[in-house]
Amino acid sequence: MSKLRFRVVESAFHKKPAEVVSPSERPSEYFAKYVFNREKMFKYLPSKVYSKLIDVIDNGAALDRSIADAVAEGMKRWATELGVTHYTHWFQPLTEGTAEKHDAFVEHDGKGGMLEEFSGKLLIQQEPDASSFPNGGIRNTFEARGYSAWDPSSPVFVVDDTLCIPTIFIAYTGESLDYKAPLLKALRAVNKAAVDVCHYFDANVKKVVAYLGWEQEYFLVDEGLYAARPDLLLTGRTLMGHEASKNQQLEDHYFGAIPTRVAAFMKDLEIQALELGIPVKTRHNEVAPNQFELAPIYEECNLAVDHNMLIMSLMRKVARNHGFRVLLHEKPFKGVNGSGKHNNWSLGTDTGVLLMAPGKTAEDNLRFITFVVNTLTAVYKHNGLLKASIMSATNAHRLGANEAPPAIISSFLGTQLSKVLDHLEESANEDLISLAGKQGMKLDIPQIPELLIDNTDRNRTSPFAFTGNRFEFRAPGSEANCASAMIALNTAVAEQLIIFKKEVDELIEKGEPKISAIIQILRKYIKICKPIRFDGNGYSDEWKAEAAKRGLDCETSCPVIFDNYLKPESIKMFESTGVMTKKELEARNEVKWDMYTKKIQIEARVLGDLVMNHVVPVAIEYQSKLVDNVYKMKSIFSEEEAAKLSAENIAIIKKIAEHTSYIKEQVDAMVEARKVANKIESEREKAIAYHDNIAPYLEQIRYHIDKLELIVDDQMWTLPKYRELLFVR
Ligand code: ADP
Ligand code: MG
Repeated sequence: MSKLRFRVVESAFHKKPAEVVSPSERPSEYFAKYVFNREKMFKYLPSKVYSKLIDVIDNGAALDRSIADAVAEGMKRWATELGVTHYTHWFQPLTEGTAEKHDAFVEHDGKGGMLEEFSGKLLIQQEPDASSFPNGGIRNTFEARGYSAWDPSSPVFVVDDTLCIPTIFIAYTGESLDYKAPLLKALRAVNKAAVDVCHYFDANVKKVVAYLGWEQEYFLVDEGLYAARPDLLLTGRTLMGHEASKNQQLEDHYFGAIPTRVAAFMKDLEIQALELGIPVKTRHNEVAPNQFELAPIYEECNLAVDHNMLIMSLMRKVARNHGFRVLLHEKPFKGVNGSGKHNNWSLGTDTGVLLMAPGKTAEDNLRFITFVVNTLTAVYKHNGLLKASIMSATNAHRLGANEAPPAIISSFLGTQLSKVLDHLEESANEDLISLAGKQGMKLDIPQIPELLIDNTDRNRTSPFAFTGNRFEFRAPGSEANCASAMIALNTAVAEQLIIFKKEVDELIEKGEPKISAIIQILRKYIKICKPIRFDGNGYSDEWKAEAAKRGLDCETSCPVIFDNYLKPESIKMFESTGVMTKKELEARNEVKWDMYTKKIQIEARVLGDLVMNHVVPVAIEYQSKLVDNVYKMKSIFSEEEAAKLSAENIAIIKKIAEHTSYIKEQVDAMVEARKVANKIESEREKAIAYHDNIAPYLEQIRYHIDKLELIVDDQMWTLPKYRELLFVR
């Protein structure tokens, strides 16, 4: 074994789990310890200020600047009691992570000294000098002004010595430069549209909230082994590596016993997450070796998104304390499952009703069907856009790879709900509604057992599955910001509900009774959205052919899929709901294409370096040893005998020569292809060139490297192999 590998593997085997000191209190006692939640607001704010702030949070009232100073003062008092010295506006730029710039609370006191200060002005708005955040040309570097502005609907929290203030990030000219600003607008749009539709059923509904419960999948690898893999370090995935003889074929990892060192990491992570108010609940092993999942209890969508961003950075930090690195990349290893982030989504009213859940009465169930059918119609109309919302250079490796939904959006409803929709579609109006004297109409909506919630049949291959009281969008990538999918989905549903309401109202105006009008329009939508419904095996080739026939978006090229954002129907959807303008959409696509290009570019460079510095030299060294051996055999044996005995080695010498020369040729060709692509001006065309002409080289080169890995002496191979990366814990 090479010295480097020996050292790192040794370190992995001798690592003791880090001590996790359990807090003496119970989770219910330390939950949200570091969050400025209502309880703390009440304690640290004057009562008038408290009521005004709650009005802002609960009812979306405009933020009254006159209370900002008092809020800031209360926050500072709470934070300094926890030893906090700095504050930061915490925002989500279009790079997948979060951004923060820390400032100390100190100010000159005007007498040559310092005092701790934190004013309302600093809380509400900042001007991060951040011309280097991706902005797609909206903000040129010479007018670098962008603003971050406080989002009072997500509570501030403390990490280490810093008070973190969730903010949106917008350009001087008002365009969104982040995920949060359009998400808040999408949530506002779906709230308004859904409340209006709810009024057909219940006049008391004042607010509809979108909920999100994410399930985060991830891999853990030993830190020492990780450090010896430049590809993991620089790109987040292995660009080479032959499958281990054993991987997931025994299906012995899923829900298996959690290894001790991993359990210690999870426990530590959960304590810290709970302290930050993230309601983590579920943990288990996933399908692939060293793959795990974490899920909280669902929350209001904006908060859930912030919590997911926060937990991803927390995972990275806590993993290091346990000698691990966490891999959030969608496909860190070839040949075993990749990681996703299921987005469980639903709508609920301020009257406590989950709109995606069946109810007890026929009216309840009509409301339930109304929301389900409108959701399906929205997903059908914008299936290409929804796919674009989850697409990235990294997630592209996972989709369609026989472990995740294909790059086609479809929806699974299960037998019971499908039957209900079929019944509604096929039966005549009179069958469904009978007039019953003064009591008004009687509805023959089929009884939908409440048991449905727990009984829904499951289909793991569906990208958008109904699961009893919610839809589970399974296509988002493990590394992604959930906001991207949530912006597209909530906006699409908002637009659809507005159209639905308009059509129903038109019928009512013409004298049609309300229930009958609703049923007529629903029946029309059930027909329209039929192509999106698919309960079969989403992994099969037959489905790909069938989906194409149904007119669903079957494009697989990531940069081309981004075009969906700029289709007229998408622009119309985003503009009519006030979520994003055409200019914003165009700018964001520039960023997406640029990011795509850069990711492939980095992978190509890293692979080129690895080939020239690790793989080829090692292979040639081993080859020379064999050549040496062949020569020496001749000095011991007769020529004929030596030739016979060395035949095997000679064959290996030849194979190494073939693989290395092929690899070198391909690397040279890849460099040339990059030079050509780099000259392309248009970000879109450049990204397409990287997809079509450069990415394929990565796979071809890898094939030959993996063959060499199998031939070359293990002692000489410098890079940790899959069997070490995936099985050392
Ligand atoms: P499964 O693996 O069966 O999909 P998990 O327990 O891993 O289930 O995750 C389900 C997620 O869905 C959890 O985050 C849960 O809180 C969330 N969830 C449950 N009901 C709803 C709902 N009505 N709306 C949104 N999310 C929900
Ligand atoms: Mg799930």
